[in-house]
Amino acid sequence: MWSCLKCKAAFPDPRPEPALCAPCFETACADRRILRAGKVDQMLATAGVPLKFRNAAWKMPVFLEPFMKGHRGACLVGPEGVGKSAALALFIRERETRWSEHEGALEKDFPAVWRWLDWPAFVMDVQDAYGQSGEVSANKLLKAAAAAPLLVVDDIGAEKVTEAVGGWLYVLLDHREKWLLPTFLTTNVPIEGPGNIDERYSTRISGRIVGPCDVLKMSGKSRRLKP
Ligand SMILES: [Zn+2]
Repeated sequence: MWSCLKCKAAFPDPRPEPALCAPCFETACADRRILRAGKVDQMLATAGVPLKFRNAAWKMPVFLEPFMKGHRGACLVGPEGVGKSAALALFIRERETRWSEHEGALEKDFPAVWRWLDWPAFVMDVQDAYGQSGEVSANKLLKAAAAAPLLVVDDIGAEKVTEAVGGWLYVLLDHREKWLLPTFLTTNVPIEGPGNIDERYSTRISGRIVGPCDVLKMSGKSRRLKP
């Protein structure tokens, strides 16, 4: 005989591990799922994922499934409003949830691995830092972002483009490629073809995208992936 750790009821052997009866085990699992979901939410907030994208009502697009593990990143290209940023927010939530379930992670062990850059806002921060205290503090901001284990650079091309901005983007992407750090990008600027990202920044940025990332085109209506 053994007794359940939680409800203390007695049951015939064999004793399960942990020593919980089926209903108590179910409750404990549900509690952990709720706890983890809360922690994942907190993690998304700490990473800087905007609230608007955190609460998307749809499911993570299946084309992001291959990026659950490994070093490859993705670049979502498409017009405004097709859900590129929301897709990445859903992806981060799904990836973290699966990781935490697999690792059995609870409250203490959620490492802050994600960083979300709203690129136009980040560019303004770097410009401010540059204006106030020069190159050193601007570089610090760039380096901190470049070093994030997992990075989202959201809305490339929506900022006011200057030569310096192209240089910063290049430095950021170049560092990530060299250190095999997965990067997830969104942009409405085409990576190749007319009006492409290199023409926009007049520097070899496309090479730092197509090397380490899969370029995924999102279309207007269906959020479906084009080949
Ligand atoms: Zn019980």
